[in-house]
Amino acid sequence: MILTVCSYKGGVGKTTSAIHLACYLQERDGDCLLIDGDPNRSCLAWSKRGSLPFSVVDEKSAVKHVAKHKNIVIDTAARPDRDELAALIEGCDLMLLPSTPDAMALEALRLTVQSLKRLSAESYRVLLTIVPPRPSRDGIEARDYLAASGVPVLNNYVRRWVAFQRASLMGVPVYESRDRNGGIAWADYKAVGEELFNA
Ligand code: ADP
Repeated sequence: MILTVCSYKGGVGKTTSAIHLACYLQERDGDCLLIDGDPNRSCLAWSKRGSLPFSVVDEKSAVKHVAKHKNIVIDTAARPDRDELAALIEGCDLMLLPSTPDAMALEALRLTVQSLKRLSAESYRVLLTIVPPRPSRDGIEARDYLAASGVPVLNNYVRRWVAFQRASLMGVPVYESRDRNGGIAWADYKAVGEELFNA
């Protein structure tokens, strides 16, 4: 399984999603490699601050490592142009497009989905992240709106939990963040992993 995580806008949970879906695959199969293809090197920085249960390499040294792994998650540079998007979708089994449920992010997402449709791409899914807690209905409304627009949005979404910021600072997966909501925050990504890879 090669999962590529991609977004047109920064701050939508791309890095956090790449890290935690790699955690999911590592836990499920005992194997995952995370390739950090984002020039910000956020995944590499996360792993260097602490410890992650899988290897993180940059894209320049990735070739040497890929043959040894059956699961690969790739974090990519934000704002790919059309040619880059075409190469990214060609090079993976599944593309994940994280988005927050606000108007600006959803507009950026609409343009990405438009480009993917022009490329006749089908193997992509949208994940809503950093969804505000109840009583806000932003997550559910964004999901219903996307689904009604024919966008392949995942049913499960990831809620806004401070535990993710803590985990990032500590350089660990959220279930090791020692935050009281670390377990529920991890359950959000586990449900996403189930839906993405096991459904
Ligand atoms: P990107 O890679 O798209 O820029 P990040 O994964 O780095 O996005 O997330 C942007 C910011 O939001 C970071 O500070 C991160 O800790 C925080 N964040 C990401 N996901 C969540 C979440 N589900 N709940 C709360 N904060 C989050």
